Amino acid sequence: MIVGSGIAGLRAALALGPAARTLVLTKEEVHESATQYAQGGIAAATGDDDTVALHEQDTLAAGDGLSSPAAVRTLVEEGPAAIAELLAWGAEFDRSGGGLARTREAAHSRSRILHAHGDSTGREIAATLARRAAELPNLRFVPQARALRMLAAEGRVWGLAYAAAGEALQVRARAVLLAAGGLGQLYAETTNPAVATGDGPALALTAGAELADMEFVQFHPTALAWPGAPRFLLSEALRGEGALLRNPAGERFMAAYHASAELAPRDVVARAIEAELRRAGQGTCYLDATALPAAQLEQRFPRIAATLAAYGLNLGRDWIPVRPAAHYAMGGVTTDLEGRSTLPGLYAAGECACTGVHGANRLASNSLLEGLVFGARAGRAMTAETALGGAPEFAQPATAPEPNPAELRRVQAVMSAAAGVIREGGAMARGLAELEALPGGGAAARTAAAVLRAALARRESRGAHFRSDFPAHDPALAGQHSRQQNEGGAIRVRFAPLGA
Ligand SMILES: Cc1cc2nc3c(=O)[nH]c(=O)nc-3n(C[C@H](O)[C@H](O)[C@H](O)COP(=O)(O)OP(=O)(O)OC[C@H]3O[C@@H](n4cnc5c(N)ncnc54)[C@H](O)[C@@H]3O)c2cc1C
Repeated sequence: MIVGSGIAGLRAALALGPAARTLVLTKEEVHESATQYAQGGIAAATGDDDTVALHEQDTLAAGDGLSSPAAVRTLVEEGPAAIAELLAWGAEFDRSGGGLARTREAAHSRSRILHAHGDSTGREIAATLARRAAELPNLRFVPQARALRMLAAEGRVWGLAYAAAGEALQVRARAVLLAAGGLGQLYAETTNPAVATGDGPALALTAGAELADMEFVQFHPTALAWPGAPRFLLSEALRGEGALLRNPAGERFMAAYHASAELAPRDVVARAIEAELRRAGQGTCYLDATALPAAQLEQRFPRIAATLAAYGLNLGRDWIPVRPAAHYAMGGVTTDLEGRSTLPGLYAAGECACTGVHGANRLASNSLLEGLVFGARAGRAMTAETALGGAPEFAQPATAPEPNPAELRRVQAVMSAAAGVIREGGAMARGLAELEALPGGGAAARTAAAVLRAALARRESRGAHFRSDFPAHDPALAGQHSRQQNEGGAIRVRFAPLGA
């Protein structure tokens, strides 16, 4: 059983192979996922001037003292083979001069980002994987199906309950993989699609599995800030190709915040934009790509150019208004390198999992790669699960609860006020109390509470987690991950290395 049809779920399904009877649940249609919207590309050390060791070094540096070295090594070592496999399956990455085209993104020391159709990398990868998955004789996709809860008893998971077409159903499974993606929709401003409501961590936590690093939410610095438009992402690759940032007064400002200026790590850029907006008190910051040749913009960023054109904006002519938006969750369901959660029978991969690869901050374009590498590992490990006798009976749920939009809006208001780019203890404590008191207790509220619980416990600033009341690193917390679990009805947070 797989929950989610993004890169992690699809790659796991392929690893399960033709012998396994696999069900893939997905909230909307198979193609609707964050994977579908990933623009900039996928990172792997495939160039002549690049090495696995350099990719490893850059990933560890972005993680700010919190990446798990074994997970990072696995990611970067298996990355090139994962890309070769995609190419063999027909994925069409962009090429130049007879080889693969590679671009540079913030905090990468080499040009190692592969891309497809300019800025539609995720769509090309997802289509390639979905095509192949559709050929598996024993795989069935169940679209418009929403996982509600795990069937958990006797210290393990036996299957799950889900809602489809207004009905509540139960399925027994030897193993369940959560590949349910991110949690951007817990915030009012996000680049994430509507399906990204953080269901994975809530399902796992309630069943008894552990979550790690939930405080680390990456905010993308440059989401389109245009009245009435969604927070469409303006890829980091634009700055990689030379686009500049300007404050409300029209001045460049990044050099005052970081030696790498526009190519500083994402969290630095997001905080700098937030600081410039607060300083100006009004107006917006801008992404200025007007000095780049129009032909280069058109060829490299066709999807961005077309989206902006729908709002009357032109990359080559206009400064594009931008602001930070919730983008990526570094934390999630704690897993080992084979995708196993702390609860037997339950696996997790992709954005809803915490392998420890990203530490306190994700290096751009490492998340698609993580979905491929660890999705495949989880799928392979799941094939080894054998059927268990003596499964307990689970009461059939009588009704399928509907999603609660009013509760989601409340969660978004709390999280945007208390757990954004700049955080403070008092506001977070009030936000957590409000979420824990919400009568619905839906998945979004439970995952949001987990973010706040971890963010309150980490009394320091590190990576994407910045607290105005604890603005410095606490050296004692390097390598220490926030880990939370339901212990007899109360959720407790402790700090420990992953794997300990
Ligand atoms: C706009 C944008 C641009 C990005 N650009 C890049 C990039 O260039 N490079 C990069 O590496 N990363 C990028 N990312 C991040 C990357 O796209 C994601 O981290 C990655 O695609 C996550 O893959 P996934 O398989 O874990 O989840 P997703 O692709 O999000 O898939 C999650 C799946 O789970 C399903 N689901 C969720 N909850 C339930 C439930 N309760 N029941 C049933 N199904 C459920 C969803 O319907 C969906 O099918 C970007 C993200 C966004 C939003």
